[in-house]
Amino acid sequence: MERHRTDLLVLGAGVAGVYAALAAEEKGARVLLVSKDPLPAGSTPWAQGGVAFPVGEEDQKAHLRDTLVAGRGLVEEGVARSILEEAPRHLERLRAFGLPFHPEPTREGGHSRARVFHLGGDRSGLLLLEGLLKRLSTPVVPAQALSLLVSGNRVAGALLWGPGGLWEVRAGAVLLATGGFGRLFPVTTNPHGATGDGMALAWRAGAGLRDLEFVQFHPTALPNGALVSEACRGEGALLLNAHGERFMPRYDPLAELAPRDVVARAVFRERERTGGVYLDLRPIPHLEERFPTVVAQARALGLDPLRAPVPVAPAAHYAMGGVRTDAFGHTGIPGLFAAGEVASTGFHGANRLASNSLLEGLVVGWRAALRALEDLAFPPRATPLPALAAPPEAVASLREEAGEALGVVRRKETLLAFLRRAEAVPLEEVEQASRDRLEAGSLLLLMRLLARAALAREESRGAHFREDFPLEDRPRHSLFQGWRLGFLPVGVE
Ligand SMILES: Cc1cc2nc3c(=O)[nH]c(=O)nc-3n(C[C@H](O)[C@H](O)[C@H](O)COP(=O)(O)OP(=O)(O)OC[C@H]3O[C@@H](n4cnc5c(N)ncnc54)[C@H](O)[C@@H]3O)c2cc1C
Repeated sequence: MERHRTDLLVLGAGVAGVYAALAAEEKGARVLLVSKDPLPAGSTPWAQGGVAFPVGEEDQKAHLRDTLVAGRGLVEEGVARSILEEAPRHLERLRAFGLPFHPEPTREGGHSRARVFHLGGDRSGLLLLEGLLKRLSTPVVPAQALSLLVSGNRVAGALLWGPGGLWEVRAGAVLLATGGFGRLFPVTTNPHGATGDGMALAWRAGAGLRDLEFVQFHPTALPNGALVSEACRGEGALLLNAHGERFMPRYDPLAELAPRDVVARAVFRERERTGGVYLDLRPIPHLEERFPTVVAQARALGLDPLRAPVPVAPAAHYAMGGVRTDAFGHTGIPGLFAAGEVASTGFHGANRLASNSLLEGLVVGWRAALRALEDLAFPPRATPLPALAAPPEAVASLREEAGEALGVVRRKETLLAFLRRAEAVPLEEVEQASRDRLEAGSLLLLMRLLARAALAREESRGAHFREDFPLEDRPRHSLFQGWRLGFLPVGVE
């Protein structure tokens, strides 16, 4: 086994991890940054729309209001306000880094103003990540985290599958920046590695997992999960049902620009009612130049968006919930931080406002690195927690069922039946396991917790829709406190 030592160990090299590593480098700290997939990895390079930044002081309030409205009573207002106040400084820094943001922001669903800054047409995430990686001196190590090291109550590093085998990395602090868990669903816009590993690692170390039931379904994915950016609707694309009728004005006064959950449910209903839903991209001027990725992805499926509407369906897209942290990414466990999609800072509440996630990854990634460096500790001894593993085939077949049970529209019977099947699949604690078994372990844990949270939330709010409880009840978070000594029953806050 190789042994390494660093100040800050950053797990994940998407926007949150790379930007956090840059912050730590700027402070002169030693950083070890790892990614289980080759770069550019994670959801970040796939982001098309851009990054939402408030434009001027007046817009701070409007951006906050839009975020609160989308989050349906579960946004932590103080956290959101502080992220938005800090946002302009990061846009300045990124421009100073030479990142080619388009000078004119665009408007997306749920935003009352144009404030989404894009790069390279619809290649925003890729150009953002490449620009950040160029600034970074620290090399990104290809490695998968399999468990955290602890010393008493403190997280003190991680065990990794690194180059050449097992690595034991002792660290003054660990930052989880491992992204979301879209791969829990059969149709998702997320990359292959989005298996919720960071949430499982944090839970095993005793951290809280909050609001897992809030999964944003992107309303317009192509049949293979490839995303057709929300910005397309912002710039004129129209949704049509199988009869060729435009239907969104019947569901919401904002029509195609309604919040994502509203559009996703409308698309779901119209698909059920008429047999299909299509997106007509032809009203967008200069479609090929503005959305080259969308056009290429459609063509790869044999579709021609310049000639005819393309078939679309909702796909699992973004996890609002995750590892509970404060506004600085601290999980409450000494030495353990989280930023980006893996975290639940409270910024998104029950539904994320489009393009707020890259912003959160940047602001909280930077802050978490600085906060972590303020409290480094190197206890003399640290031991690995057990890793979670599960049989990949059994989890793959559960994933097929997750689409219905945990999807856009949920109901008690299907949730209960799903939970029973998920609890019948063994979730084992092991010292080591292969990548497939570890990812299946993370997914199985999250399937169980998500089903429980969705069952316990007997209301509809934001991205969580219960057919049997269609109205909102009182706003409350759900929380599963992680457990260090075994699998205890999980509770809801
Ligand atoms: C198709 C698509 C389009 C999107 N468009 C937008 C948009 O326009 N605007 C916006 O704001 N948001 C958008 N989002 C959401 C946004 O891209 C993500 O929420 C954000 O990029 C997540 O960044 P992250 O740094 O948290 O994680 P990611 O970018 O997902 O990176 C995760 C990293 O962690 C690594 N990792 C995972 N598990 C392990 C492990 N066990 N060990 C080691 N490494 C690990 C991965 O390999 C990767 O390096 C989009 C998402 C998708 C999928």
